[in-house]
Amino acid sequence: MKIVKTISEIRDIVKDWRKAGYSIGLVPTMGYLHAGHGSLIEQSVKNNDKTVVSVFVNPTQFGPNEDLEKYPRDIDRDSQLVESLGGDIIFNPEASEMYNTKNYTYITVQGLSEKLCGITRPTHFAGVCQVVSKLFHIVMPDNAYFGLKDFQQYVIIKTMVEDLNFPVKINPVNIVREESGIAMSSRNVYLTDDEKKSALSLSDTLKKASQLINNGEKNSKELIKQMQEFISSHPYTKIDYIKIVDINTLEDIAEIPDNNYAVLLAVYVGKTRLIDNFVQHS
Ligand code: AMP
Repeated sequence: MKIVKTISEIRDIVKDWRKAGYSIGLVPTMGYLHAGHGSLIEQSVKNNDKTVVSVFVNPTQFGPNEDLEKYPRDIDRDSQLVESLGGDIIFNPEASEMYNTKNYTYITVQGLSEKLCGITRPTHFAGVCQVVSKLFHIVMPDNAYFGLKDFQQYVIIKTMVEDLNFPVKINPVNIVREESGIAMSSRNVYLTDDEKKSALSLSDTLKKASQLINNGEKNSKELIKQMQEFISSHPYTKIDYIKIVDINTLEDIAEIPDNNYAVLLAVYVGKTRLIDNFVQHS
């Protein structure tokens, strides 16, 4: 396993791999890796000859008052995990390596990027699409792996790739949770013990919502109301949104269908903004 810092070096390695006929998987991350990232890496290693894990805290997807500076980093621990799972390369460029041009080009997936997380984070997905496009052009993977924890991100990237004919297959990977039920996230490290207890309300309310739907509740408004009440009954929580949407258009759904919907939420627990969801597809 090798850590590569420059675009020219990774391009040289990829060129040799392509000549040898190897398939390439890419797992884009911001590092501080946990078992959720590990699951993406495992899938890539299983299904490709070579796996590149990018570890890059991308400045262009952070808003002015977000946690860019304090975002957790630990490249030594990340390297150990990638190596233990059989990854071949960590691509870990400096921001100055990735953004050394005029950098005028962003990508907006109109109609999808403005919704949900895009309301509180209006520039976020333009930055995500920008860096993911750059990584696709640099690494030229056959497959790329994205977690369903960031469901809106997955839908946006999949749509961008279809719209712009990127020659890469986007592979979704299920959410990995801690034993308690909390979705794994690098940002969980910000939570105090008390906040962690309150953070459990996100996965708990999703479980309850799923049960209610299975028991016949089809009215989104009613379900969302119950979820709001449940989360708000926990200290330190402030709801950003709870939405039930179509899995392709991300449009609100009033009457919950049998399939192809997602229940999505974003909640501040203390100062930390957490997201979670469950998806029902056919
Ligand atoms: P991040 O480092 O948070 O930008 O995440 C990098 C990739 O890992 C994204 O595709 C995420 O959706 C995915 N990911 C993060 N947390 C989880 C999780 N708990 N389960 C599955 N995938 C995850």
